Amino acid sequence: MKTTHLCDDDHLHEECGVFGIHGLPDAAAHTALGLHALQHRGQEAAGIVTFDGEQFHHHRAIGLVGDNFGSEQVIGWLPGALAIGHNRYSTTGGTILRNVQPLFAEFEFGGLAIAHNGNLTNAFSVRKNLVKRGCIFQSTMDTEVIIHLIATSLYSTVVDRMVDALKQVEGAYAVVALTEEALIGVRDPLGIRPLVLGRLGDAFILASESCALDIIGAEFERDVEPGEVVVINADGLHSIKPFIPTPARFCIFEYIYFSRPDSTVEGKNVYDVRKRIGAELARESPVPVDMVVPVPDSGVPAGLGFAEEAGVPFELGIIRNHYVGRTFIEPSDQIRHLGVKLKHNANAAKFKDKRVVLVDDSIVRGTTSLKIVEMVRGAGASEVHLRISSPPTAHSCFYGIDTPETKELLASSYDIEAMARHIGVDSLAFISTDGLYRAVSGTPRDAKTPQFCDACFTGEYPVPLTDRDGGPQSMQLSLLADQG
Ligand code: AMP
Repeated sequence: MKTTHLCDDDHLHEECGVFGIHGLPDAAAHTALGLHALQHRGQEAAGIVTFDGEQFHHHRAIGLVGDNFGSEQVIGWLPGALAIGHNRYSTTGGTILRNVQPLFAEFEFGGLAIAHNGNLTNAFSVRKNLVKRGCIFQSTMDTEVIIHLIATSLYSTVVDRMVDALKQVEGAYAVVALTEEALIGVRDPLGIRPLVLGRLGDAFILASESCALDIIGAEFERDVEPGEVVVINADGLHSIKPFIPTPARFCIFEYIYFSRPDSTVEGKNVYDVRKRIGAELARESPVPVDMVVPVPDSGVPAGLGFAEEAGVPFELGIIRNHYVGRTFIEPSDQIRHLGVKLKHNANAAKFKDKRVVLVDDSIVRGTTSLKIVEMVRGAGASEVHLRISSPPTAHSCFYGIDTPETKELLASSYDIEAMARHIGVDSLAFISTDGLYRAVSGTPRDAKTPQFCDACFTGEYPVPLTDRDGGPQSMQLSLLADQG
């Protein structure tokens, strides 16, 4: 049994995908498809809640969307034209059904289901107060504090209560909620996590990424704006901006790694952005080689951009086995090491006596790079260089991208030269922060008001880390949050 440490970012962090539909028959089947397109945002568990005009229906399950929501029988349990769904990603072994979203609760005003992508940075402090006031929590999820804040709000309408609740939390959130009448979508005031709005005939769709609109044939309408609340009911869509306006800080790592390349987020196609990052990297850190080989799949667009800019042949010299989950899913170090070997194989025919530059999106613990470089050398490469399409990841994310504790990040204790030695490459270079900004948005980083959240690279956290900085008080609460 594991105790969830309230300040341990490895446990309550969730990288997730959310999806919602208002006004479409077979909403559950469409939601299942949407969640399937968002599977990369969370592979541990999934859930769907629907409303059929009379009652709510829910199904949640551990595992992949296709395995749990692919059958007519399951979809048959979820009638209605209103639905929301959620994919959960958590790195620790603590996935239990009571932590699978959407969360559902009956309130004074009726039922409400809620699904959240992101991470609340003051959830434990808020939770502590709520527990003192008699609230009984059923899960260890930060999202549950929103439910209790809605329940205890003195406002009367659902939307006012929800806004009241969200004004009391800090952190990153893209939320979809479902009531008997409305589908509600909210992005935190800084818009750290993505949320897009689509249309399919008269129906409205909300989704973490536009690739989830494509799969059901919906049209991309626009991004939900940072700090915007959209309320969709029988009268159509209403938008309010109840939070104090603040400069947006969209997560730059969504562009580097997390979002799907075929998505357009915040007006930019992710694939194009990644290619531009690769090209910028080639300009910043050129190297004389015979070929560019991406670390699949996440390094492919940046690798292409690098090769085009450098005028060097691009080769898929490393093949990925798609039947293995992401490296990070495996909880223990031993399995994680094994995972990298299971996942990639070097095509020996390509590497013999060749000078190669490998392109990957990030170095976290360094596990992937170490194994890949060893593999490529084993396949006969005469020189192995590594280019990374993000700056060194030296700080943990507290806003919903899973990262290990800072001390486990290779870049937190090694400089670039030491990293190169550790990984065993002939040369190593990361894109500069300014180069990254230029590639993403066309302008360098504004040091006073950075255009994105880049805390994982710079350590500048745009939202207070109340729980992390709360000291022993918040740690006490760890005993309340046993993950099972
Ligand atoms: P590592 O092997 O620990 O250095 O991890 C680096 C690899 O993990 C890279 O190839 C990335 O594609 C991938 N990666 C980076 N960040 C994440 C994340 N937050 N979740 C899952 N995988 C990641």
